[in-house]
Amino acid sequence: MISVEEARKIILAEIRRMGTERVLLSNTLGRVLSEDLLSALDHPPWDTSAMDGYAVRWNDTAGASRTNPRILKIIEEIPAGTLPQKKIEPGEASKIMTGAPVPEGAEAIVKVEETERHGDQVKIFEAADDGDFIRKKGEAIRTGDLILRKGIRIRPADIAMMASIGRSVVPVYQQPRVAILSTGDELAEIDEPRGPNKILNSNGYGVAAQVIEAGGLPINLGIAKDTREDLDKKLRGGLHADFLIASGGVSMGDYDFVQEVLMELGAEMKFWKVAMKPGQPLAFGVIGGKPAFGLPGNPVSAMVSFEQFVRPALLMAGGRTEVFRPIIQATLEEEVRKHPGRRHFMRAIVSVQNGEYRVRTTGDQDSHILMSLVKANALMILPEAGNIHKAGEKVAVQLLSDVAVAGNELSGLI
Ligand code: AMP
Ligand code: MG
Repeated sequence: MISVEEARKIILAEIRRMGTERVLLSNTLGRVLSEDLLSALDHPPWDTSAMDGYAVRWNDTAGASRTNPRILKIIEEIPAGTLPQKKIEPGEASKIMTGAPVPEGAEAIVKVEETERHGDQVKIFEAADDGDFIRKKGEAIRTGDLILRKGIRIRPADIAMMASIGRSVVPVYQQPRVAILSTGDELAEIDEPRGPNKILNSNGYGVAAQVIEAGGLPINLGIAKDTREDLDKKLRGGLHADFLIASGGVSMGDYDFVQEVLMELGAEMKFWKVAMKPGQPLAFGVIGGKPAFGLPGNPVSAMVSFEQFVRPALLMAGGRTEVFRPIIQATLEEEVRKHPGRRHFMRAIVSVQNGEYRVRTTGDQDSHILMSLVKANALMILPEAGNIHKAGEKVAVQLLSDVAVAGNELSGLI
């Protein structure tokens, strides 16, 4: 039996990055950028006005107030999207809209609220300082600036940014295709007519959703019977994918043939037991250069094992630089017990109280109790050696969402 770290190391050493492709900007949400992106232009492209108002030479407004306005001659109107034609000379102003280019000679914008127009003249009620309400060319982004780093998962703000610098086609990593097979004579599909003693296949759906969350494309291979023949037939159907995942059939039972069949199909098995709970049986091998996972059948074990091992592998294949969930330290709200020997991942709720993270379990931790995973937003990580952890103790907690915790030196450690 190997440790969680050893298992992760062995798995990640086998992972190859996917190739890249170019996709339309509007289709990049959630995809992983495959090149550093540099700006090919300045933003804003010229000095622009940050306000609706008047472009002026600032010393023409010196000493201006409500009772003692300066009067300037309006020489031009510059709506956004047009280019100014006239230079501002002393005593002159141009009416300008937000986002319009600032005319030559202008040094500041006076807000329209601080003015009053009379025909081709404008009263200025406020003195301007040099540069007031002018957004300088290249102030937001300069040509050559690093905009987005390779390996990030693209978010809405990133898409807005790419649009603002004129990227209509974006280089991203291809998404790994992940074949998923559920195994067990007792399993039935949700809508299929079924006899008594059948268990509904939940792993097929849960794991597929985890694959999507990790940027992969699930391929559903359905359910295989606990026979070598059916496993062989169904697993073969997944060999063209980039990852192969089976759930169930990896324990010591008389009908647990998944490992055997994977080996017959040419897999080199690397390990099949990890010192953790839930999820001790976990088969990992490489078949034709592709990773193959045999997850435990119990629904919670399957999903927790996926979190610890398949997810980082998928993210790495998909080009992500950050592949681990954030880990925080939280104060235990209750006593928790475990047997020494295996690392426990307890389904838990993290909350913040008085600026401090606190954590409690979500109830029955048996590996078939999905409800305690449904209620959880985190997994409490209890070390192998430990036995009793008392209320008030600090424990490591793995968050089950990708909240970026800047400066969290613990993230990625486990
Ligand atoms: P196994 O690892 O095949 O011994 O399965 C362990 C337990 O998980 C058994 O109670 C199975 O019925 C259950 N199980 C296995 N596969 C699934 C699945 N796809 N969906 C729901 N439960 C499953
Ligand atoms: Mg089974």
